[in-house]
Amino acid sequence: MSEVREFKTEVQQLLQLMIHSLYSNRDIFLRELIANAADAIDKARFESLTSPELAREWQIRLAIDKDAKTLTISDNGIGMTSDEVSANIGTIAKSGTKEFVKALAEKGDTADAPELIGQFGVGFYSAFMVASKVELHTKKSNSDAPAVCWRSTGEGSYELDDSSRTEPGTEIKLFLKDDADIYLESWKLSEIVRKYSDFIAYPVILPQVKVNEEDKSETEEDRVLNSQKAIWLRKPSEITDDEYKSFYSHLSNYGGTEYLKAIHMTAEGASEFKALLFLPKQAPFNLLMPDIQKKGLQLYIKRMFITDECKELLPDYLRFVCGVVDSSDLPLNVSREILQQNPLLGRIQTAVTGKVLSEMKKLLEHSREEYEKFFIEFGKIFKEGLHTDRVNGEKIKDLVLYESMNTPEGKYITLKEYVDAMPESQDCIYYITGDKRSAVASSPALEYFRNKGYDVLFMTDPIDEWIMQSMFQYLKKSFKSVTKGDFEESDMAEKIKAADEKYSALVDFLKDKLADKVSVVRFSARLTDSPCCLIVDNSALPPHMERLFRAMHQEVPVSKRIFELNGDHPLIAAFNDKLAATDDKDQLTRFANALYNQALLLEGSPLENPVEFAQTITELLQSAMK
Ligand code: ADP
Repeated sequence: MSEVREFKTEVQQLLQLMIHSLYSNRDIFLRELIANAADAIDKARFESLTSPELAREWQIRLAIDKDAKTLTISDNGIGMTSDEVSANIGTIAKSGTKEFVKALAEKGDTADAPELIGQFGVGFYSAFMVASKVELHTKKSNSDAPAVCWRSTGEGSYELDDSSRTEPGTEIKLFLKDDADIYLESWKLSEIVRKYSDFIAYPVILPQVKVNEEDKSETEEDRVLNSQKAIWLRKPSEITDDEYKSFYSHLSNYGGTEYLKAIHMTAEGASEFKALLFLPKQAPFNLLMPDIQKKGLQLYIKRMFITDECKELLPDYLRFVCGVVDSSDLPLNVSREILQQNPLLGRIQTAVTGKVLSEMKKLLEHSREEYEKFFIEFGKIFKEGLHTDRVNGEKIKDLVLYESMNTPEGKYITLKEYVDAMPESQDCIYYITGDKRSAVASSPALEYFRNKGYDVLFMTDPIDEWIMQSMFQYLKKSFKSVTKGDFEESDMAEKIKAADEKYSALVDFLKDKLADKVSVVRFSARLTDSPCCLIVDNSALPPHMERLFRAMHQEVPVSKRIFELNGDHPLIAAFNDKLAATDDKDQLTRFANALYNQALLLEGSPLENPVEFAQTITELLQSAMK
């Protein structure tokens, strides 16, 4: 019995492209055929659960015949009856392939076809990317239906014939095109299998010829190409440390085998997926470089590797997390572009984000020391979430750590700990931004708070300044910078007014002499010990950020600062007296500059004229020692 049948129009259309167009990634044909084979075994294995006599050693075999230029992929899965062959192979039933044809029709221009073929998995028909003829033998498992042979050159029609196959399962022989010789190389097949099908749950076997050294006789040996270790599908209790480590090093962009925590996830319901995620231990030296940010989690669909550049699976601020997400309800045969629009990805991201945040919280609560180390490594990235993830904003705030005025160097507190320690009279969360701890810790702007018994958070990452622009409250307490803008304490108003009046001559003099450096000279309640300090206008960039931008060769406007004086400080009183008593305006100008320079030094800014400052100090020391 031999019978020729026409392909349906849409199949013809598709095959034309497979056969005649160039293609960007032909390797995927093997991924597709192995996936079909694995699906067929899944079905047969399922049957064998109730009929144990059907169980066999499930496997997928590859065979190369270099002389005939054929590559054969066979499985011992469910197989097909003659009717099933016609229905499945000859029409396009599957949504993925349909979408592909639709996308092509929409483009209306086959010039884009190569692009599209590379992006789509197009199932069985992708065999025609590499083969000029395909011959399929199949026998339905657990059925009396005779084995059947299907063959086609992909041009318009296919032929159905009897087959001598006796074992259940399917064998697909590809007569390779002249330019597809590479698929006769076992290293190439091995490479493709490892890349795309490593975690397929059945062995993919490629027999290997072994030559006996002594008598040069040849024997064939089975070689399994894939590791079959879908570690994320296994029970955590059955996975060894070494397995975790080797999987982590296979996945991570950071190299090394040390990770902080492995997180297993099983999601059911709206979107079903399993995931294995890792929190890394150590940041690479180039953590903030764009390269490290390219990759995302690896996306698998039903144990098949799809991509490791699926940005949709994880928000940017968690990009240090690596791992695998294996979805069972994303469509397998669609292009990356179409996949990226799939709303299921958004749901996966929501679930993964929630899980990572809750695991971080556990670490914070139960392994504080480890969490602090982790935060020192990755906090810079994680904090971006305060700015970008409004939905999880409060959870992220629970997880960020800061040093503070009241913590010893290298010790961190959470915002919750800060708020819990606030005295009753305090109603804001105070912070100071700057380059480094040593610079902010000596800022005169802290004095008032120290005396009041309030703590001040030290924010010394460059990113903190940016984040604070959108961080308004935590537990209903507002954030307030101690070096920015107006600072009014009602009980101080009188005192400030008195100082303004008493020292108005000094204020006018300083305004005049420092006119090119500061915009305002005023008295403030901020200071208790130091005579003066510099403050940033609410809208201006703080000095350490100005320096940072300049270091990156970016233009930043020079913003004039606010010069604040301490009305209680004896130096201010003395300066005021001196101003009334002497006509030596030169000396007074030098003192004004020295006062200003001292404020610069205290906030960690470089002096404009260090030589002049040193000369003034020398002069003062000399007169003090007379
Ligand atoms: P899909 O990628 O959706 O599986 P294909 O075009 O690759 O689409 O295959 C169409 C159908 O042919 C499959 O859904 C399956 O029913 C059948 N099929 C393909 N390969 C095999 C196989 N090795 N064993 C049994 N059935 C197969």
